[in-house]
Amino acid sequence: MTDHAGAERVLVIGAGQAAAQLAISLRAGGFAGPITVIGDEPFLPYQRPPLSKKFLAERPAPDSLFLRPAPFWSERGIEFMLGIAVAKVNLRDRKATLADGRTIAFQTLVFATGTCARRLPLPGADLPGVFLLRSIGDVQRLRPALDDARRVAVLGGGYIGLETAAVMRGEARDVTVVEAEERVLKRVTAPPVAKFFDTLHRERGVNICTRARVAAITGEGRASGLRLADGAMIKADAVLLAAGAQANDDVAQLAGLACEGGILVDEIGRAGAENVYAIGDCARFPSRRYGRKLRLECVQNAIDQAKAVAAAILGNPQPYDPVPWFWSDQYEFKLQIAGLFDDYDDVAEVGDLTKGRFSVEYRRGGRLIAVDAVNEARAHMLARRRIAEETEAVAAGAV
Ligand SMILES: Cc1cc2nc3c(=O)[nH]c(=O)nc-3n(C[C@H](O)[C@H](O)[C@H](O)COP(=O)(O)OP(=O)(O)OC[C@H]3O[C@@H](n4cnc5c(N)ncnc54)[C@H](O)[C@@H]3O)c2cc1C
Repeated sequence: MTDHAGAERVLVIGAGQAAAQLAISLRAGGFAGPITVIGDEPFLPYQRPPLSKKFLAERPAPDSLFLRPAPFWSERGIEFMLGIAVAKVNLRDRKATLADGRTIAFQTLVFATGTCARRLPLPGADLPGVFLLRSIGDVQRLRPALDDARRVAVLGGGYIGLETAAVMRGEARDVTVVEAEERVLKRVTAPPVAKFFDTLHRERGVNICTRARVAAITGEGRASGLRLADGAMIKADAVLLAAGAQANDDVAQLAGLACEGGILVDEIGRAGAENVYAIGDCARFPSRRYGRKLRLECVQNAIDQAKAVAAAILGNPQPYDPVPWFWSDQYEFKLQIAGLFDDYDDVAEVGDLTKGRFSVEYRRGGRLIAVDAVNEARAHMLARRRIAEETEAVAAGAV
């Protein structure tokens, strides 16, 4: 597949949310050269958020998740090679090698490789009946097992674990969530909001075990439960591993690019080699706003960083330093998170937590850095503006 068009081709590795936006923005911005997107999943770019929400619950056809239908891409001359991984990249020769040995030449290379589920080195983790949840393929494996399961164990009380627990309770299955930390949602939100969701799930019948370490997944030939480090046993017909994600940065590392749990990029998305970029979940970028390097796992970041890198490729680079935002749907509650809360020195609750309609504001040095809103869409929208203004004022110095 090596051809002269490689002289101007933009090659994108990964065919997810960020890749789709990059291709769209390049064409919208007037880029006329070849765009080739290579994805190891057999699907056109699709939205992942419904996988642990509506898609899991209502099981529509996979193409209902597609970000754009097939003709949209072909009409714009955006070429997809799907169901095949890029195995390695030679940055000097400007060639990517696919898993089947074919090579593709490029001028500009964009890593949009996302993340994969973190695998836990647990005895029994490879047993049938143990599942991950990151892709349509994962749901296609998981869903029939859930249908047959009376008891489901979820390892990890993050948003994917809790969203799945909510769907399972909607189907009246017994659910146990096992979380190693002292509270659920520890990585994404602070104690008041975590407590709200912990209480909600318990009221809806979820058994939540915090500070609980799983020693092994038990079962003869098929998973039948968990053994905790304190000896407690939890019975389960299906086990979901939902213990976070890690960046797919192995191909970038092999190519010699600097990675620190994600591909390191500068403020305009450049990954340390000429005309090489990284976007979305796989990229770690410097945020002046938050004074550190960030790797975000959210749709907002995939879209906005892709737009920023498309602008850079089109010759109009703009520093990328967003106020991140994110959402999670659990039962009839929508949690919307704006900003990053983790180094707050002041927290204030606005509204009534007992009524399930409230927001929680986090400040540092008197400035608003993050707001979590539950069933308060307006508070969330306002927060994004206020945080942008208040954190911009402190953004200074190199990161
Ligand atoms: C179950 C679930 C629920 C979520 N819910 C929310 C939510 O409610 N709100 C929110 O904001 N975000 C949510 N997210 C996160 C959001 O989906 C991601 O942030 C977003 O998809 C990131 O886009 P991306 O393009 O960077 O990566 P992805 O969409 O993950 O796409 C990367 C693609 O690259 C492929 N790939 C990797 N390596 C190679 C290779 N070497 N060769 C070829 N292809 C490769 C991957 O298989 C994948 O298909 C959720 C994610 C999951 C899994």
